Amino acid sequence: MKVSAILLAGGRGRRFGKPKQFVEVLGRKLYEYSLYKFRDVADEVILVVPEGYEIEEVDVKVVVGGSERYISSYNGIRASNGDIVLIHDTARPLVSKHLILRIVDTLKEHKAVVPYISVVDTLRNIKDGRTIPRQELGLVQTPQGFWRREILEAYESLNDFEGITDDAEVYARFGGRIKYVEGERTNFKITYPEDLKLFESMLLSSMRVGYGYDTHPLEEGRELVLGGVVVSREFGAVGHSDGDALVHAIVDAILGALNKGNIGMHFPDTDENLRNYRSLNMLSYISKLLGSYTVLNIDTVVILEKPKLSPFIDEMKTNISKALKVPKECISIKPKTGNTKARGFVEVFANVLLAGV
Ligand code: MG
Repeated sequence: MKVSAILLAGGRGRRFGKPKQFVEVLGRKLYEYSLYKFRDVADEVILVVPEGYEIEEVDVKVVVGGSERYISSYNGIRASNGDIVLIHDTARPLVSKHLILRIVDTLKEHKAVVPYISVVDTLRNIKDGRTIPRQELGLVQTPQGFWRREILEAYESLNDFEGITDDAEVYARFGGRIKYVEGERTNFKITYPEDLKLFESMLLSSMRVGYGYDTHPLEEGRELVLGGVVVSREFGAVGHSDGDALVHAIVDAILGALNKGNIGMHFPDTDENLRNYRSLNMLSYISKLLGSYTVLNIDTVVILEKPKLSPFIDEMKTNISKALKVPKECISIKPKTGNTKARGFVEVFANVLLAGV
């Protein structure tokens, strides 16, 4: 059963000054939070964006949306190849992998699966004062899952899309039966600017700290690379790769924060491909492992007798920032000299702080 995720980021978002899916929250665009969740679960990801928006992601199919949500959805469905499609509003960045998997699982027995949450507030018609019984009402969420052929047929046979706000409605008007399953209260839709604040505070309520350390002996006649910058050609670090101790310590700190092992497990020194490897590339790999976590800051201490590192710090930060996709202002590199123990060694300590869900 091949799964296509269709992520709708096609809205124009009038309340946010720009499309809200492109608003940055803790250094990441809103749509990216959904993307990272679905990427692990789906065989393909289709991102539906407004016309004129460029997307950097390499492993997603980008499709241009339409003036209405249903047009964006339809464009996404047509571009997909899966047996089933999961259609999700990227304005719901807190969707859990658990919910996604539950919908995929339920699709084994149903043609359409849609999450909802029960209504807890009293519902009242504020014009006539009538209270509306809420027992049979549900607040409908995404992702909504369908067998692709079914939902495509529904879209292609429907003529009237008036008042349609989700794919379940299209399917229901077509006469399809929908299996409603329990959604998640945290899977709320970001609609107003204050919802972004709530989302941000939820991200910040889950933080992880990581610690990394690396040291390499120094040898004459080698290049010393730190943060992707050659700081000396007189003597350099002995190592399997380019021996970039600063990058290695940062990699280990992030892996530690994610509880995903250590650098040797991801980049074994028995791997011949990694001989003289440019360690800075490790950070691009690590950036993908981060998933929906975002780096709040990185603080490092580099202990090296000579040369003086201060002229190179800015370039190191730029390199790390680009490779890891983290703002430069979040990266601190503090050189230290004068430690006699450090002669013949380069030594790096790194701390990172991640936030995410
Ligand atoms: Mg190392």
